[in-house]
Amino acid sequence: MIEFNRAPHVGTEETYIEQAIEGGKLCGDGPFTKKCSAWMKEHFQSGEVLLTTSCTHALEMSAFLCDIHPGDEVIMPSYTFVSTANAFVLQGAKIVFVDIRPDTMNIDETKIEAAVTEKTRAIVPVHYAGVACEMDTILGIAKKYGLKVVEDAAQGVNAWYKGRALGTIGDFGCYSFHETKNYTMGEGGALLFQEESYLERAEILREKGTNRSKFFRGQIDKYTWMDYGSSYLPGELNAAYLYGQLLACDKINKKRLELWYRYYQGLSDLKEAGWIELPTVPEYAVHNAHMFYIKARDLEQRTRLISWLKEHGVMSVFHYIPLHSAPAGRRFGRFCGEDVYTTKESERLLRLPMFYNLREEDVDKVIRTVHEFPDFR
Ligand SMILES: *Cc1c(COP(=O)(O)O)cnc(C)c1O
Repeated sequence: MIEFNRAPHVGTEETYIEQAIEGGKLCGDGPFTKKCSAWMKEHFQSGEVLLTTSCTHALEMSAFLCDIHPGDEVIMPSYTFVSTANAFVLQGAKIVFVDIRPDTMNIDETKIEAAVTEKTRAIVPVHYAGVACEMDTILGIAKKYGLKVVEDAAQGVNAWYKGRALGTIGDFGCYSFHETKNYTMGEGGALLFQEESYLERAEILREKGTNRSKFFRGQIDKYTWMDYGSSYLPGELNAAYLYGQLLACDKINKKRLELWYRYYQGLSDLKEAGWIELPTVPEYAVHNAHMFYIKARDLEQRTRLISWLKEHGVMSVFHYIPLHSAPAGRRFGRFCGEDVYTTKESERLLRLPMFYNLREEDVDKVIRTVHEFPDFR
């Protein structure tokens, strides 16, 4: 059976984990946490990077730092993971869902402005599959109405928009290092921001509401309770694993892109024949091969294709059920405008196995098995 996903492993992670153990410091903000942050600051040209326990937590921190209050509205696509919405719902926000573009499955930037009201506080673009949203338009709307922009770049680590790293373009950027993502630490994430003025509050929020970070830097001689907060620091063992992955970033990215283009070429005859659709990458985006998906004709055909692949030893999966159609989505949000593509396109999309340690011959087998699907002849 060809698995759908496996946590990436390059082989250097063990060395760093051993070093962490020998160092005798396993709690948060130790040497490996610092190395990971420094590496990302440099590589992605980001002002600040704070490692967190998940992307979900980075999104929650963003919602705090944007000062979201009950009744405020936050604009995002409905085609996303629950955490994108939950982080703001926890602050009492109402979620306003906007339709997606069928080519990238990202929020349709041309439909955002119509969703802005007096209560709107933030726009949350999600860079689906590591393909950038059209950020210039989004930043323009945010500027015009005085809104914050929080990038859900969970899938967009080491992907770019017009030369800028995803996650560094809006007021806040949120990365995920979950085992299903391109670079991992099991569970983990990062919060990025460019304005240094957020740093003090962000550190307090992340350190249980205390100024312990300042204390560690020797800037104060005892630490105390300063504000509300929680515990958003990952431990050093996880950071050590991530450090091995970040140092192997080019190798991991190259391999994923090779697999991605192998799928693309291997399936393009089916696209030419009009049986399936393949992903689109706009010229402004440099993607990171986070995902390889195809689109079947409709829900019914997709369901049969998933079964066909499974019967022939290939695990494939569909993705998000649009949030506005879920019980909590109906309670906490509303869809603005018409749902032209969100539901329709989400029902057609099918993700094929894609992970760092996937073998080329496995990709070839997946391509063959898709070709053998009886519908596609
Ligand atoms: C994976 C993912 C998340 C959640 O990441 P965690 O690190 O598991 O909290 C949020 N948003 C999107 C778009 C994701 O793909």
